[in-house]
Amino acid sequence: MKIPSNKIVDVIRYFRDELKNSYETNELETMMAHCFEKFININRSELTLRQNETLTESELLKFNFAIKDLKLQKPIQYILGTADFYGMKFIVNKNVLIPRPETEELVDLIIKEYQISRVEFHDQEIDIIDIGGGSGCIAIALKKNIRAANVTCLDISEQALEVATQNAKLNYVEINFLPDNILQPAFDFRLTTYDFIVSNPPYVCISEKHGMQKNVLDYEPHLALFVEDNNPLKFYTAITDFAIGHLKPRGKLYFEINQAHGEEVKLLMEQKGFKNVVLKKDFNNKNRILRGNI
Ligand code: GLN
Repeated sequence: MKIPSNKIVDVIRYFRDELKNSYETNELETMMAHCFEKFININRSELTLRQNETLTESELLKFNFAIKDLKLQKPIQYILGTADFYGMKFIVNKNVLIPRPETEELVDLIIKEYQISRVEFHDQEIDIIDIGGGSGCIAIALKKNIRAANVTCLDISEQALEVATQNAKLNYVEINFLPDNILQPAFDFRLTTYDFIVSNPPYVCISEKHGMQKNVLDYEPHLALFVEDNNPLKFYTAITDFAIGHLKPRGKLYFEINQAHGEEVKLLMEQKGFKNVVLKKDFNNKNRILRGNI
């Protein structure tokens, strides 16, 4: 089956018919509105008024592909090529995770805590590193909101850093990008210290795969998601050790964590010497953020 005519009204009807069994109405209507906005620059409120207009063949083709992909549970953000995060637009593709709302909470916490303690920094430049930065959403949102920050975004994936570089341009910020592996850094960090170290490393265990949604499992980069079951805290251990050696006095370490490992990572940080370690829940009431200082 194809879309029966080039008329917008038919595209709308087809979109709804084809996807009504796969998505809830609200979600479907929102995704459709995003497609109209992106593909033909018509916003939601104009849509009903312009129902009798016709689309070109190439516009129609975009809808056909989008509907086909949505049926296969491809995330709408990958279809559109963009995602929203902390009030900003980010380019996304298969090489980066789609930014999550719980990560917005992490960014928000860092910004709020910075603002509270701002006087201590005397408005001087501060140094931040985001380890495993992916699309750059954390690094870029921090730079955008903490102007005095000098932000580094490290990732092992050069393809991810290409996306992050485009995102920095898109959002008019300067970020230092560093392709490296935090488990075995090639970069010489000996003289480098930071005020804030932040990371949302891979934290989903391979054994958790069976409970995961197809849209995540089939489309998002496994390199950014998964960690072996026999060493689920390997990134947390390595990054906590790194932080001990590279945080400035009273510098802070922020993690996004797997809800199942909150207490364990908290203990890990405390055993390695972190103070005031706080475990915070996300909007779903799940353990999601850890913060501590040295
Ligand atoms: N929060 C992501 C998810 O649940 C995982 C992100 C990560 O592994 N860092 O899919």
